[in-house]
Amino acid sequence: MNLLENLNPAQREAVTHGKGPLLVLAGAGSGKTRVLTHRIAWLLAEGLARPTEITAVTFTNKAAREMRERVDVLLGGGSRGVFLGTFHRWALDLLRRHPEPVGLPRRFGILDADDQRALIGRIVKELGLDEKSAAPRTLLARISAATNAGRRPADVGEPLAQVWERYAELKRRAGAVDFDDMLLFALRILNTDESIRREVGRACRFLLVDEFQDTNRLQMALVKRVLDGERNITAVGDEDQSIYRWRGAEVDNILSFEAHFPGARVVKLEQNYRSTAPILAAAGALIARNEGRRGKTLFTDREGGDPVRLFVAADEREEARWVADRIQETIPRTGAGEIAVLMRTNAQTRPFEEELTRRGVPYRVVGGLRFWQRAVVKDALAYLRLVVNPDDEMAFRRVVNVPARGIGAATMDVLEHHAAVRGVPLPAAARELPDGLSARARRGLEQFFSLLAEARRQLETLAPGDLVGFVLERSGLLALADGDDPERIVRRENMLQLAAAVEEAGQQGQDLATFLDAVALLEEGDDAGKGDAVSLMTLHSAKGLEFDMVVLAGLEDGLLPHATAVRESGGLEEERRLAYVGMTRARRWLYLTAARTRFLFGSATSGRPSPFLLDLPPDLYEDVSFVPFRRCGPPVPGAAPPVGHPRPSPGRSAPRPSARVRPTATDAAGNGWRPGDRVRHDRFGTGVVLACQGRGPRLKLVVFFDRVGRKVLVPTIARLEKA
Ligand code: ATP
Ligand code: MG
Repeated sequence: MNLLENLNPAQREAVTHGKGPLLVLAGAGSGKTRVLTHRIAWLLAEGLARPTEITAVTFTNKAAREMRERVDVLLGGGSRGVFLGTFHRWALDLLRRHPEPVGLPRRFGILDADDQRALIGRIVKELGLDEKSAAPRTLLARISAATNAGRRPADVGEPLAQVWERYAELKRRAGAVDFDDMLLFALRILNTDESIRREVGRACRFLLVDEFQDTNRLQMALVKRVLDGERNITAVGDEDQSIYRWRGAEVDNILSFEAHFPGARVVKLEQNYRSTAPILAAAGALIARNEGRRGKTLFTDREGGDPVRLFVAADEREEARWVADRIQETIPRTGAGEIAVLMRTNAQTRPFEEELTRRGVPYRVVGGLRFWQRAVVKDALAYLRLVVNPDDEMAFRRVVNVPARGIGAATMDVLEHHAAVRGVPLPAAARELPDGLSARARRGLEQFFSLLAEARRQLETLAPGDLVGFVLERSGLLALADGDDPERIVRRENMLQLAAAVEEAGQQGQDLATFLDAVALLEEGDDAGKGDAVSLMTLHSAKGLEFDMVVLAGLEDGLLPHATAVRESGGLEEERRLAYVGMTRARRWLYLTAARTRFLFGSATSGRPSPFLLDLPPDLYEDVSFVPFRRCGPPVPGAAPPVGHPRPSPGRSAPRPSARVRPTATDAAGNGWRPGDRVRHDRFGTGVVLACQGRGPRLKLVVFFDRVGRKVLVPTIARLEKA
């Protein structure tokens, strides 16, 4: 196959660029990722680089897998030896090869988000901070942002600095790294050890980075550090799709690329091959509202195409029903795998899940990481982590008393004290069975460690799946899930699934340690294999993907743009880019939907239209709502009327009788709750709303429950659902 055949001249120029820095700066769907894969194949085919001299960094593991497949198709195999993965994968590989320069133990552990929060929570308690004003989640986010911005504890104020320092210390003691450490430590190694830097430099002789607009400062520093005199970097990206500012992404890395890499060649791609003209026009009109863009042309020669359609529903259920109708219409034309419903937050999936389940339409929720986040799976993984690394402190804390072995807070105090005195990791201290333990705790610890020791001995002899079986059985985790109630059955199934996953990895030649690393690196979007199911996913995890039909759901003020994001400076623009990313995923059909009321976390949203809808000139979409949404003036927060508010509309009449739409006044007063609604409550069971009192966050409902009688509830606090 001629590698350059299916490329336009600009793409060809980028693919066949020789040495030196190259930037491909271009809009969505213009073939940037295609250029990267073709360039890898071209470098190999022309003999300009050996596979081991090419490093390509993508944004997700899944994108990396796809890229490898494409290169293999282009070359008929031959991508072996090329590094293709995320920045974190790349950094982790480096740390696994060379843990010593940064003082890590050979088998260091990796903290996941839960581990991190637990650790910070302990520090907050230890330092006597107020947990309300110093929420672990917030502290972590600030530490992470500061780390990625290249700052140190001394650069931030108290109490953050103190928490940060203690956090670093405890991680060191536990012999574990978090995600940010991976990048930070990798950079530290490259900065201090010249021979390692040269080794890494050889593997990065040709370095290619996709989605460059979302690199952060640390990543940029890494990129600069590994390049040698030839400076063979290929960066591709689109500043309009920068959506990770909240995680430290610096769009300036791409905008000032030529300043960072003097003499860089810049190639622009202007033809969009993905979307029809109406989709491109609407997306373009939206992003045009952002300021400070470099601005670019994007055209398509795909004639015709269905108009972009807007549907404003009365509530999230009607939205889900309407979307499900469109999905069922489209499945015969493209298959379920070519359809995606994109939303701002994971919490919005539920109505869609219910509706699609009811209709028997296959779907998958992408990015929930649900399986790996189940408690029972994490427990089992913690045991496996301890088999591989006996000193994994977070794993030890998690499961030393699961199932119960008489190891409570008092025992942990003894162990912590001993660990501090002896200056050893907590599990090591526990293995020494220090004085002061109760007889029961001592027996419990002995049992626990003998199980782990035995499992470690079996590591060489048992097949990986069998080893997992052994650990599940002997630890008592399986017995803990014994019984017939559905919850326990699910737990047992989860454990078996885990064993099967380990077994499968084993058959592909992965040992347990490698498997655990891969699990630690899983991230949103990794399970996004299309298959034959509709994808429900967040906008963030949709980056880089494309589908025949896309629904951008929940276009309401406060949701998209998201209320918390908008509070940050530049937040609104980032949210607009996020919407732009969503719209540009569509090849043939794009639907925009919103709901006039929506229940999320027990409270109703504003009911105002997303200002992004108001950004779109009305001739760029077709309003198919029962009650048409109209352009209602500037999107001043608080000033816009509720989405779909019926207005006198001389030119257009509602295509359906508005009987299906609830009176807006009632919605506003009762946040969508109305007397007569059937409801369900966790504890009280089912009941009927008798009255709504107050409004907004102060709304109270008088509910008569079938079982327990009359109760007055605040729906934003009580877990109340419509039945
Ligand atoms: P995004 O900004 O969303 O990451 P992108 O610029 O990386 O998009 P690609 O995903 O590489 O774009 O390409 C978009 C679509 O256009 C793909 O389906 C790709 O195969 C197709 N495409 C790109 N270039 C060409 C071309 N020269 N001829 C035909 N199809 C092309
Ligand atoms: Mg791409």
